[in-house]
Amino acid sequence: MTPADFVQTVPVPLVHIRRDARIGAMNARAAQLFGVGLVGRHYITALRQPALLEAIESAQGQSPGETAPTSARYLGQEAGRELVFTATVTPLSGDEGLLVAFEDVTPYEEAGQMRSDFVANVSHELRTPLTALSGFIETLRGPARDDPEARDRFLDIMEREAARMNRLVQDLLSLSRVEDIERMRPTDRVDVAQIVTSVAIGLGPLAEGRGVRLLTAGCDAPAELPGDADQLTQVFTNLIENGIKYGREGGSVTVTLTRHETLAALRGPGVTIEVADEGEGISQHHLARLTERFYRVDNHRSRGMGGTGLGLAIVKHIVNRHRGRLRITSEQGQGSRFTVSLPMNSARVA
Ligand code: ADP
Repeated sequence: MTPADFVQTVPVPLVHIRRDARIGAMNARAAQLFGVGLVGRHYITALRQPALLEAIESAQGQSPGETAPTSARYLGQEAGRELVFTATVTPLSGDEGLLVAFEDVTPYEEAGQMRSDFVANVSHELRTPLTALSGFIETLRGPARDDPEARDRFLDIMEREAARMNRLVQDLLSLSRVEDIERMRPTDRVDVAQIVTSVAIGLGPLAEGRGVRLLTAGCDAPAELPGDADQLTQVFTNLIENGIKYGREGGSVTVTLTRHETLAALRGPGVTIEVADEGEGISQHHLARLTERFYRVDNHRSRGMGGTGLGLAIVKHIVNRHRGRLRITSEQGQGSRFTVSLPMNSARVA
């Protein structure tokens, strides 16, 4: 098999560089990355990045088998997307030149980036209440030491900040727990109508406090499906609480449960639970990002309401675990609608 035949069989971008420093062959994946018509040209015309050129030059000085392959990071672009490759340069035996193979490491790089963004976000979220707490401790030790009125006021704020940190830690734990078991579909049968009813009863006082009417429909008869009762309780708590928090003060939040013989999105029988509020709504460009961790439309408002920015991320993961769907629609000035669809069948028959 000639190097030209060989490179075509490999499913990653692969370039053969002859001993005379010309490109001997490249496979279709490499042509996608570097362009066509490069065979016969000097390799520098195609592979211009200094780190890679250096790796090739150092490999050219080696005899095969003498040392390990050299590698370099290579930044590429395909269909407008930035990609990161690890390019490995391996000298071939005899006078055959060398092979450069490109492994796409973009997903690992992205995962690493997401991890460090997440840590930065968590630190930032924790630092704000911590700074407030340290500041008040200092004030209570110093200027406010003998001022009972100020002391009470500061202790109230400190309690609120501590509660915020507590909520954040709870939400982080929920998120990590649900991510851990996201692939394991729940097997218990639970009555989602009853879950929605108890959540609504539990949130009655919060709604009342904001003068919001909390209405439920379709929850009189049971609606059984395979589910995790605690997690579904969390889903409807988060959605209804958001409806109350971000909806119109003095308006209503309506939770409607509907049974469907077939739900197209789930390809089978299912239940939808829709939580609709009469708030200002959410503009279109925010909708797609709402379920990202720490994504908030209005930072100030969310924090003022004691929000952690993790509620909808938790909802999305729990719904995924149940093999359901979350749909968010909103009309500016009219309100928002969060619809959870859950399958009623235990396992999809293939
Ligand atoms: P938070 O703890 O900030 O409420 P969530 O993940 O529950 O976090 O929600 C993310 C963001 O989505 C909120 O900060 C808010 O900006 C927006 N949001 C959520 N629910 C609603 C709603 N019913 N109406 C308007 N905006 C909402």
